[in-house]
Amino acid sequence: MDILYTKPSITDLEISYVNDAVSTGWGKKCYNYINKFESEFAKYIGTKYAISTSSCTGALEMGLRALDFENNDEIILADINWIATVAPVIRTNARPVFVDIKENTWCIDPNKIESSITNKTKAIIATHLYGSLVNIDKLMYICEKYGLYLIEDSAEAIGSIYKGKKAGSMGDFGVFSFHGTKTITTGEGGMFVTNNKEIYERVLNFSNHGRCIGESKQFWSSMIGYKYKMSNMQAALGCAQLERIDELVTRKISIFNMYKEILSSNSLLHLNAELESTRNSYWMPTVVFNKELNLNKDKILSKFVENNIDARVFFYPLTMLPMFNEKRENEVAYDIHNRAINLPSYHDLTYEQICKVCSIVNELSEK
Ligand SMILES: *Cc1c(COP(=O)(O)O)cnc(C)c1O
Repeated sequence: MDILYTKPSITDLEISYVNDAVSTGWGKKCYNYINKFESEFAKYIGTKYAISTSSCTGALEMGLRALDFENNDEIILADINWIATVAPVIRTNARPVFVDIKENTWCIDPNKIESSITNKTKAIIATHLYGSLVNIDKLMYICEKYGLYLIEDSAEAIGSIYKGKKAGSMGDFGVFSFHGTKTITTGEGGMFVTNNKEIYERVLNFSNHGRCIGESKQFWSSMIGYKYKMSNMQAALGCAQLERIDELVTRKISIFNMYKEILSSNSLLHLNAELESTRNSYWMPTVVFNKELNLNKDKILSKFVENNIDARVFFYPLTMLPMFNEKRENEVAYDIHNRAINLPSYHDLTYEQICKVCSIVNELSEK
């Protein structure tokens, strides 16, 4: 591939922190980078608490477990999502209810939520897809009206802002991913954040194999918990990336703006939306081609591959997967996913490379 789809930005700072962690971060210092990463992360997002994890999936699973769902309790989420958003729902014995997305943000459509609420509904998971924010005000209104928890899957939205508040800081809890494809990375890794002391303490107890805060006996677990921890070496990488967060997010935004400007003369497609009073951190610049072009995932992807450009298809509706029941009523999700593609957007991508990607996008949209 001449042009990759994602790749982390690793500088001397990351290398020096990881070198330090691997050479000296043991014994008494074995949690230093972990503690620093958690407190700096909480400060950046604007929450009271943060717990680092081995993945975002693990953070979400522990958070859901802390909310104590019963068998068949229902959790609402958008049909367009990565599998990681729904897998923990199933593992905590709740039942996912898939709602359609909005045409412009590709996030859950708040106007289609209420008709899916039953007396078993307990929570809504709001995924800020590709950095685009869900309408938090509307979701909060619904959650208050029906007594539901609001969970923010912010894996793709670090640096996105809704009316002055960071994605992940507004719900009952938020989760983040530091997988190698995400805006900041620790290789694999995640973070759980909340302002709720009770939820924080429950997740902390879970995350420590059920050894509870204040327990004085060594090796004493009072329940079955999890081992979804981040290592000090990964946290060192995270600390360096977090120091560079403004630079990394700004670059994502400027890459998106270059795509937007170059493609502005093409009226047969649309790109990620940025709604009023929000800042989209544009994790993935994405093109949705107009319907009349009769494109599909295979056609779009093979054109990119032919030109040695690595691109990724838009997520499938989760209800298309064999584990779930098809839900074609989610018509926006079923329509858009097949004519959309994520474009390359890594930090060191050049203007010339962006131009080349745009020329392929334009070729695809010639009628
Ligand atoms: C990447 C991603 C996850 C999972 O992150 P991991 O760290 O790989 O577990 C969850 N939700 C969304 C929306 C994601 O994009």
